[in-house]
Amino acid sequence: MEAVKNEMEKQIQQVAEWMINSKRIVVFTGAGLSTESGIPDFRSPGGVWDRYNPEDFYFQNFLASEASREKYWQMATEMYEPMKKALPNAAHLAISEMEKMGMLDCVITQNIDGLHFKAGNSEEKVIQLHGTAMHVTCLSCGKRYDRDEIQERLKRGVKVPYCDECNGPLKPATISFGQSMPERETQEAYHRSSLCDLFIVIGSSLVVQPAASMPLVAKRNGAKLVIINRDPTPYDHMADIVIHGLAGPTMASLLQKVKEEQKRRRC
Ligand code: NAD
Repeated sequence: MEAVKNEMEKQIQQVAEWMINSKRIVVFTGAGLSTESGIPDFRSPGGVWDRYNPEDFYFQNFLASEASREKYWQMATEMYEPMKKALPNAAHLAISEMEKMGMLDCVITQNIDGLHFKAGNSEEKVIQLHGTAMHVTCLSCGKRYDRDEIQERLKRGVKVPYCDECNGPLKPATISFGQSMPERETQEAYHRSSLCDLFIVIGSSLVVQPAASMPLVAKRNGAKLVIINRDPTPYDHMADIVIHGLAGPTMASLLQKVKEEQKRRRC
């Protein structure tokens, strides 16, 4: 146990030094970043896919039938309630502090919960690859709605909401399996990944494509790759450092180490 603790401390020291010496740091986040804020991820035991079948939520099914849309809105509502109440945890706050310290090129997030913004990161630093659950869009005319407005309709008994303007189907502004990725965000994420010199993954199983190819792009372009995740990922073998720890405490220790190291260098 002591040996594991010492090894982790060494890893944190090394990552802190890389952070100080890097010119462009990209942080890549997944659902594991927000589990400590009370939002379940998809693939952990007790996660969303233990209660729902992913195939029921393919975009094509959403388009194809009223029954699928109803099921989709049920799951989306179940996920939205804890998201709306959730507060950023120590990991979100550490990433926001990185921005304040001028250490962050950008955050590429797969998360749809808006917690990076609640933690204080600015709009221009966060690329939301899979959209956001805080808005709803009409799939026919593109009209955008505040999510709470639509939740009110559902609470009043509407099972599947439709657009006021064109009667097209409404869907949370998130990217479902089978739905096209947002072009601007995807291009920007690839671009930033290819330019960075340090790429830090936090709380992602790295199995959802194309998001999961970003660490590969960074690594192939010469960046150091650090993975902080509770469980192993398919990219662990190519990472420079893998920390199998929890996002909150690991990121808090990392930021503390960075500050100590910066202070030591100033003296
Ligand atoms: P995932 O569910 O596939 O994997 C989560 C990973 O995080 C797991 O490997 C797990 O070991 C790890 N993890 C869980 N809790 C952790 C913690 N406290 N500290 C460190 N690691 C922890 O999630 P993913 O890779 O992000 O991909 C799935 C998709 O899930 C994404 O597209 C995302 O849009 C969506 N999603 C988002 C949210 C959210 O916005 N909070 C929640 C659920 C799902």
